Amino acid sequence: MDRAGYYGQFGGAFIPETLFSTIEELARQFREAREDSSFWRQYEEILSTYSCRPTPLTFAQNLTRHFGTSRIYVKREDLNHTGAHKLNNVIGQGLLAKRMGKTRVIAETGAGQHGVATATMAARFGLRCTIYMGEVDMERQRPNVFWMEQLGAEVVPVKDGTATLKDAINEALRDWVTNMDHTHYVLGTACGPHPFPEMVSYFQSIIGKEARTQIMEREGRLPSRVYACVGGGSNALGIFSGFMDDPVELVGVEAGGKGLDTGLHASRLASRDGSIGVAHGYKSYFLQDGEGQMRKTHSVAAGLDYVGVSPLLSWLKEKGRIRFEAATDWEVLEAFSLTVRKEGLVPALESAHAFSQAFKELPHMSHHDIVLINLSGRGDKDIFTVADALNDPEWKAFIQNKAGSYGA
Ligand SMILES: *Cc1c(COP(=O)(O)O)cnc(C)c1O
Repeated sequence: MDRAGYYGQFGGAFIPETLFSTIEELARQFREAREDSSFWRQYEEILSTYSCRPTPLTFAQNLTRHFGTSRIYVKREDLNHTGAHKLNNVIGQGLLAKRMGKTRVIAETGAGQHGVATATMAARFGLRCTIYMGEVDMERQRPNVFWMEQLGAEVVPVKDGTATLKDAINEALRDWVTNMDHTHYVLGTACGPHPFPEMVSYFQSIIGKEARTQIMEREGRLPSRVYACVGGGSNALGIFSGFMDDPVELVGVEAGGKGLDTGLHASRLASRDGSIGVAHGYKSYFLQDGEGQMRKTHSVAAGLDYVGVSPLLSWLKEKGRIRFEAATDWEVLEAFSLTVRKEGLVPALESAHAFSQAFKELPHMSHHDIVLINLSGRGDKDIFTVADALNDPEWKAFIQNKAGSYGA
């Protein structure tokens, strides 16, 4: 196995032998594409005409005034087509799939956001598309299932295990083994076997490249801290990559769920509950029990409740380059409301984790500091969760009426 796939002790490619040649071929094709400057130009060209790149950098003037300390900037990944940074990755992998002559893509999805992004890319690039989704997740995320099907994807319910994301990953890997000649597996975050962590963070590095240039143009100096939420780690690695070699503090914010001492969270790096293991094709920190069985995770944000985390992030934590924190569901809802009211920005509940941690630290910062927050996606998708949490009576009546009109 190529040491290039390791970051310290983390990473690697723990895959069935039948996948070796496919993974090797993918790593080789990716290396070639990366050395071919026309590939990146084509990537930027598509994102600028089909999505919204470069996404703007917004000065949060009202939040800045509210806290009265640092100047706060927000990188607007919410303005991407399909509503989040996820499109960057799927467009990159779609281009690579085309370059490799593949005619079909498959993907796993938990909350459905990566499934919708992949189905969108497949429609645009004329690729056949199959999405694996836990049966339980399909019930919880019906609107996304509806859109994936409208986009022409086949959504396959996974009934194994807990019928959620980790089971969908296993099923997607099984499909890949059978159909690797013509199929590319579009992994949704900077996890999985080598070369996925490297490849996904490479495509997402467009966020950090733009953000660094934009903030230098606006302020003529670097931010003191950059905040990003961490599920698998792709949006965080994307924005952090722009500042990795700078004297800038990088803060990754995980899902603290109901609190780190309750066991009901998804914090692999900021809590003491994570431990090193191998699963889903790579070595990293996981939330697992003594026997290596994956534990149940919880977060108000469906995109952050994954049991593993990017091997790159585990390594950067060990090196002390990134600080990891966790925000609880309740703190996140408060940060969400403040951001909506003050700035008219509607963050995804995932992204609101980054805002929440920044809000905790802002009172202790100074006028000389600049803070940059990655707004990884928009919160429209979270209307059901937010309205439930805020216990809005008119919303409840609306849902009951709707259900009633279907004779439920
Ligand atoms: C999926 C998602 C995330 C989590 O994924 P990462 O790979 O950790 O970036 C974060 N924010 C939004 C809006 C998402 O849709």
